[in-house]
Amino acid sequence: MSSVEWELVCGLEVHAHLKTRTKMFCRCELSYGAAENTHTCPVCLAHPGALPVPNGRAIEMTILLGLALDCEIAGHAVFARKNYFYPDLPKGYQISQYEAPLCGAGKFVLPTVDGEREIGIVRAHLEEDAAKTVHAGGATGRSVGADYSLVDFNRGGTPLLEIVSAPDLRSADEAMAYLRLLRQTIRELGVSDADMEKGTLRADVNVSVRRAGEEGFRPRWEIKNMNSFRFIGRAIEAAFRQQVQAHEAGEEVVQSTYDYDADTDRLTVHRSKEEADDYRYFPEPDLVPVEPAAELVERLRGEVPERPAERIRRLAGELGFASAEELVLTGNERKAEALASVGVDLKDAAAIAMNRGDFLPENAEALARIVQANVTREALDEAFAAAAEGPIDAEQYLSQRTLGDEDALTPVIDAVIAAHPEQVETFRGGKEGVLGFLVGQVMRETQGKADPKVVNRLLREKLRG
Ligand SMILES: [Zn+2]
Repeated sequence: MSSVEWELVCGLEVHAHLKTRTKMFCRCELSYGAAENTHTCPVCLAHPGALPVPNGRAIEMTILLGLALDCEIAGHAVFARKNYFYPDLPKGYQISQYEAPLCGAGKFVLPTVDGEREIGIVRAHLEEDAAKTVHAGGATGRSVGADYSLVDFNRGGTPLLEIVSAPDLRSADEAMAYLRLLRQTIRELGVSDADMEKGTLRADVNVSVRRAGEEGFRPRWEIKNMNSFRFIGRAIEAAFRQQVQAHEAGEEVVQSTYDYDADTDRLTVHRSKEEADDYRYFPEPDLVPVEPAAELVERLRGEVPERPAERIRRLAGELGFASAEELVLTGNERKAEALASVGVDLKDAAAIAMNRGDFLPENAEALARIVQANVTREALDEAFAAAAEGPIDAEQYLSQRTLGDEDALTPVIDAVIAAHPEQVETFRGGKEGVLGFLVGQVMRETQGKADPKVVNRLLREKLRG
């Protein structure tokens, strides 16, 4: 199979639950984990005559996100009815945005090891989530084999942000890198927890393929409601393989919705794709258009913090791309920068931030002194544990310095060498791996106070000499 000639064309539609206090069009509180159907009212249960009132905070959060993605913010946005029938949609339509979304075209700069990739953002809009169908009874608890289904309306009406990327992603890895960094951006803006395990972040994945150099697009497959990074990557790769195979065999590739089966690692047709016409979109007659004031947009523009992509680029110069990306994606770079700002070498600070628990920012200076004083591992552990709880006193830990003094270590090292002739022979025979054991013995003799680097050096000198 000549798959090298084929190029992946992938776009993502990312949905994130907004972290507002209340739902999109009523005053019910958001209620993850609450007892079923305890956070409902006539509006989100679609009682006749109940009218929606938009959540202003959700609109602000959407604009904030749009600004962070360099989107054009609409002066005139319109809510629209998307009509379809499903048991978890009591109105028979979802209030969404169609022709006039709050956020128009933008871009997402994705730093990579080879530089930068610009992923187009087509739009970002605001809608309400459907309720949650729970398949019950039966052997599997899944829809297939379930005896009956229940609906929990707590989720119905939760504000949902949808971010649609252009089909600019060219590999499964790139799609996941985009998704990870977008998730981090959403989280740092404080607009959503964006947690796939809790269902507050989901993605629809669009995949097609084309010959390298080919213009235009071939029919695409849409894989809906993906909520696992691993499966998203595997589904993209499976879709690529299957489509290339079909094109090369001269089979028709039909544009449709597909399901990914992790057991067989294959995609199967879900149902024929609804065309936009099927939804009979029309402007929501119960809501007036949203026209954000210029002052509001400017105020929100001022609230956009330095974006994670920018921090990765800034830190990559000193730390290398992989470390910078890991540091930012784990949300640890603020700790690293706090330590670096009080004198710890940025590389050391990055390693500490990744490997040590959280600490209160007010402790950064004390921790920097302790780190630089080369104290024992135990003292370091204690200091960081205490630094997460409350203010710490550096002096308390500075006395527990590492034993790096050669004169003090030499007799201990001599004793360890004398006590382990077999290991010494092994080392001299060329198996240097045994050195770790001897270093361990010295560490034990010194109750962990010896500096392992110095011990390592002294041991080598003595064993070679
Ligand atoms: Zn409600």
